[in-house]
Amino acid sequence: MLYAKDETGRLILAQEAHKDGHYRCPGCAQTLILRQGITKRSHFAHQRQQDCRIFSEGETETHLGGKQLLLKWSQQAGFTAQLEAYLSDLKQRPDVLITRGDHQIALEFQCASLSVQKLIARSAGYQADGLDYFWFIGKNKNHPFSKQRRKLSQAVAKFLRYSDNLGFYLIFLNVGSKCFDLYYNIQQADCLPLSYMYQRVANLHELRNFMQRKLRFPFRTLNDEERSLQRRNYLRTVGRRQELANYCYLHHQTAQAANSLYVAPFYYPPIYVSDSCWWRAHCFLERMSSEMFLQEMHCHQTPFINQNCFWKLTWQLFQTELANLQFGA
Ligand SMILES: [Zn+2]
Repeated sequence: MLYAKDETGRLILAQEAHKDGHYRCPGCAQTLILRQGITKRSHFAHQRQQDCRIFSEGETETHLGGKQLLLKWSQQAGFTAQLEAYLSDLKQRPDVLITRGDHQIALEFQCASLSVQKLIARSAGYQADGLDYFWFIGKNKNHPFSKQRRKLSQAVAKFLRYSDNLGFYLIFLNVGSKCFDLYYNIQQADCLPLSYMYQRVANLHELRNFMQRKLRFPFRTLNDEERSLQRRNYLRTVGRRQELANYCYLHHQTAQAANSLYVAPFYYPPIYVSDSCWWRAHCFLERMSSEMFLQEMHCHQTPFINQNCFWKLTWQLFQTELANLQFGA
């Protein structure tokens, strides 16, 4: 952490602290170690990390740097902002707390892994106290857009947000390049890499401006090129394809039908864990109702998104397609 209390109870910034001073944690009041160096950012640390419930996160250089960027950008955007403000009612400590009149916004920069349960609990804390909150993601090994990934991992999907302006989006705070990397219009399709748009913005002010632009596009139908790549990828997934073919065979259909009917020809919300061909096959072959469809759904936990409306949307896309098929036949 960057701030600690000195003997008089004043908050002192690590880079202004003295080696022979005595400093305590603003959360748990335990004695802290001051770490100052030439190459590393000055900070305070607990004797043992697990000693403290409030400042429990192991803080890397990236996390410390990200917090300072968020503070600087908040102040440049004209907000009153405070680093590591300890909210004693909540026993929570947002990385940066912005105050605008009587309105407060907690900014969190998440570098270490965090369970969905903790994410929900901390967000609920802010909400109950009337604070707005926003989570920025640190770059990590599981970066969702680095390797032509087909689905979001749960580790990233839990931060997913949706807006009418941008569709589904994720915001990464890139400390190395001192900017935000914004991925928006994120869409998912069977057997294809995620579809998305990307924008780099220089600071919080630019991020706010960008997010107010209307740039959302609807869930796309695959073009011919995507459809043939999808078919090739589908044919490569031997195990799953065989399972689906067996299922079709039990229902007196050929594997050919599985390929052409069940692999969806459109993009859909990026909240699903498995490809849609599974529930589509069930719907086609067992005349599943929308209620049954809901039970079949296997979705990521996305606490900032109301999944109900997106289930409905996926269902409607599917129904429209069915109607067109029947009309065509
Ligand atoms: Zn502590």
